[in-house]
Amino acid sequence: SISNKQLLRQQEKRESNARSYPRRIPLAIKKAEGVYITDVEDRTYIDCLAGAGTLALGHNHPVVIEAMEKVIHDRLPLHTLDLTTTVKEQFVDELFSSLPEGFRERSKVQFCGPTGGDAIEAALKLAKTATGRQSILTFQGGYHGATHGTMSISGNLSPKRKVQGLIPDTHFLPYPYTYRCPFGKGGEEGHQISSTYIENLLDDPESGILPPAAMIFETVQGEGGSIPAPVEWLKEMRRITKERGIPLIIDEVQTGIGRTGKMFSFEHAGIVPDAFVLSKAIGGSLPLSVVVYDESLDTWEPGAHIGTFRGNQMAMAAGTATLKHVKENLLDVHAEKLGAHLLQSLKQIQQNVPEIGDVRGRGLMIGVEMVDPSLPQNRSGSYPAHPELASQIQRECFNRGLIMEVGGRNGAVIRLLPPLILTDEQAYEVIRIFDEAVR
Ligand code: PMP
Repeated sequence: SISNKQLLRQQEKRESNARSYPRRIPLAIKKAEGVYITDVEDRTYIDCLAGAGTLALGHNHPVVIEAMEKVIHDRLPLHTLDLTTTVKEQFVDELFSSLPEGFRERSKVQFCGPTGGDAIEAALKLAKTATGRQSILTFQGGYHGATHGTMSISGNLSPKRKVQGLIPDTHFLPYPYTYRCPFGKGGEEGHQISSTYIENLLDDPESGILPPAAMIFETVQGEGGSIPAPVEWLKEMRRITKERGIPLIIDEVQTGIGRTGKMFSFEHAGIVPDAFVLSKAIGGSLPLSVVVYDESLDTWEPGAHIGTFRGNQMAMAAGTATLKHVKENLLDVHAEKLGAHLLQSLKQIQQNVPEIGDVRGRGLMIGVEMVDPSLPQNRSGSYPAHPELASQIQRECFNRGLIMEVGGRNGAVIRLLPPLILTDEQAYEVIRIFDEAVR
């Protein structure tokens, strides 16, 4: 039978050089179930990457499989553009019944192409159409996708440098990254300075920022390094945008569907955005994305936003089953509790490891930032990032059967994004392996 190395080499030869995950996670997957992946050499791993946060119910959850089998058994259509179907009606019912009261009654949904980036594009177009403006307020370190539009509003410069002509009039504001505060101060004070700065900037006629079509952010920056924005800051952003008539778009692509401990992450702050974007978990492992928005933004003419793949019935059926299962089993509450427990364990490990600069997260979106304490501290009192060490720990974990992502602005953050069905025992195993790898 074929080995991991052989398959990796074969695919490497023919796939584009943009391949990313296989470079750090060098296995060839044979099968997957729950939180486990098995490679072609029959080694099993705990999957804390989980499709970069897509697999809320893990791999091949019975309720997802059952929903997909029903689509096949009943010969329901698989592809339907944006035509009306019973499967879509069930999905919309389930989605709307998950929305916070008050917002639910005022909401509209736009089905988008299959990816998160696609729905972010739609949300930006919607905000521009509704306001007749063009400038976008976005945040340092944010990630919204890899299309031209979404790359333009993402913070990560390294892939952007090679792509000329991204959309202009995009303004990057400081995110309340309290560990490396852009204002040189962490914690409470830092995020207050950040919101005051943003408010002043918007009111300054000399700032060079035209009245914005939208402000967009993640409540927990995912690819940026699992950085939760303080709840108070989220409230401030809602107040600031509301007072100035700026549509607020929240990117829930990674945080949505229970991962942070609430169905939607903005619920932690008791706010509702004007629009939010869902993808990843909403398709129950299959490609699906939507924008949910306040009806006051619904200024689109018929056909103003189109696309062939807006009717993936299998994904909607899998998504409906996922939403139902998350709600019925209170997996959001589980994510909150288990996340707190994992954070506590990681902080305990941190006490003896000066190279762990920061441990942070919200629910099951956790980051461990590796630093080099042998170098001088920077202005915000943190040590320089240590990406090589993060990669080394990722590799040591992998060798012990634990798959995790490494990301963050400097590539120095080890990220845990396990399925929400991770049990206490499995979480214990994750910590045990991580601790051993770090040591
Ligand atoms: N927004 C966020 C917050 C994401 O994490 C991602 C994907 N990592 C995207 C948007 C883009 O989604 P996709 O890769 O499906 O285009």
